[in-house]
Amino acid sequence: MPNSTNQFIRPLTTKINDNGNLSIGGCDLTELADKYGTPLYVIDEHTLRSICRDYKKAFSGYEKINMLYASKALCSLATSKIISDEGFGFDVVSGGEIYTVYKAGSDMKKVLFNGNNKSVDEINLALKLGVGRFSVDNFFELSLLNVLAQSRNKTVDILLRVTPGIECHTHEYIQTGNLDSKFGFDLSQTDRAVDLIVTAYKNLNLRGVHAHIGSQIFETKVFEDEVDILIGEITRINNKYGLNLDEINLGGGLGVKYIESDNPPSTFDIAEIIINTINKSAEKYKTELPTIYIEPGRSIISTAGVTLYTMGTSKQVPNGKKYFAVDGGMADNARPAMYQAEYSAVLANKPEIPTSQNVTIAGRFCESGDILIKSISLPEIDEGDILCVFNTGAYNYSMASNYNRIEKSAMVLVNNSQSDIIIYRESLDDLISHDVVPDRLRDNVE
Ligand SMILES: *Cc1c(COP(=O)(O)O)cnc(C)c1O
Repeated sequence: MPNSTNQFIRPLTTKINDNGNLSIGGCDLTELADKYGTPLYVIDEHTLRSICRDYKKAFSGYEKINMLYASKALCSLATSKIISDEGFGFDVVSGGEIYTVYKAGSDMKKVLFNGNNKSVDEINLALKLGVGRFSVDNFFELSLLNVLAQSRNKTVDILLRVTPGIECHTHEYIQTGNLDSKFGFDLSQTDRAVDLIVTAYKNLNLRGVHAHIGSQIFETKVFEDEVDILIGEITRINNKYGLNLDEINLGGGLGVKYIESDNPPSTFDIAEIIINTINKSAEKYKTELPTIYIEPGRSIISTAGVTLYTMGTSKQVPNGKKYFAVDGGMADNARPAMYQAEYSAVLANKPEIPTSQNVTIAGRFCESGDILIKSISLPEIDEGDILCVFNTGAYNYSMASNYNRIEKSAMVLVNNSQSDIIIYRESLDDLISHDVVPDRLRDNVE
């Protein structure tokens, strides 16, 4: 099978340029750091489009396929526009994500609203903007959505989010498809949900089932199990209720290569396994070939992104580690502190100098757990060197915070030697722009 973009640590356009610096999308990373400041998120447009095209090519042998991008990995106007232009719809989980993909000009019929506790306001926004599918997570939401749809005289297409009971070997916090999960209906509860939809909820139109078994998955067998369980489930429901459900949504989850020892399958492997299993299971259950949705997040955007930091102070623990601090950390990349996630990095201004020491890269935030990289080999480090951390496109900006009252970082898009700002760096005034001092606390108030 050919490689796909998620199997590389670095963006596809990463090079060493004539100045001996690392460049991405034809842009010298030290120049980007200089021009836009650090920490700086950089997204390589070519890499992003390549992975979208890998997915399209991989599934081109199956006609009834719909690809959604899971916005929670990274949601911005510019990246949404690119992904939408590549033909993807969106999996969204909040009013903010719905609004962003809408403002980016996406086809709202190709948007699926997912989440375990959608608010009334968010559901109303989704109904108003014409979101194409709701993935309903629980009994309360079934009834709420029916009422809200009825009050608008609308019938909405829904999928039931289910937990298929598949364990996959990924970090405990990013497993979602096992039985003891906060997401979705247990398979023993789907009959009651279908009963209610068929008999009482006239404004809901059940189209199929939806599952998501986890994230950063390297095994292929779990997707086989998932396809078989979901096709079995819609067939069982169809036979029992005389319905015609024909949609299964397999969620996302394909892994990426953060460090050398990571070995994610290619999109081509995954597609072959999924398509083969669909054919086998459809025959086994004597049912028509279903319409498939996939909704990858991480594997679409992760490899396209890097983060640039400026090296600052250092500390040698007597007879211990050597720490080097960067000007960012857990507020722009929460994953190491949250999941013990590992990353690869190089000095963008010294990409060819042999490594000579093992160091720990510390963040600047006031938590001992704010360590970006526990152990990495780098050349001699000088203050002011630019560190390029790879594979930060997914779940970095989207999880960013203002911890320590620090401005969120800027993001630039690079392509063909051009760089464009796509998210401005926050200013000090942005930080206080939502603060209010009540009149009664002001000095000189009578
Ligand atoms: C998070 C999530 C995804 C995307 O997962 P990735 O691991 O980023 O591909 C897709 N679908 C659902 C329902 C999710 O919760």
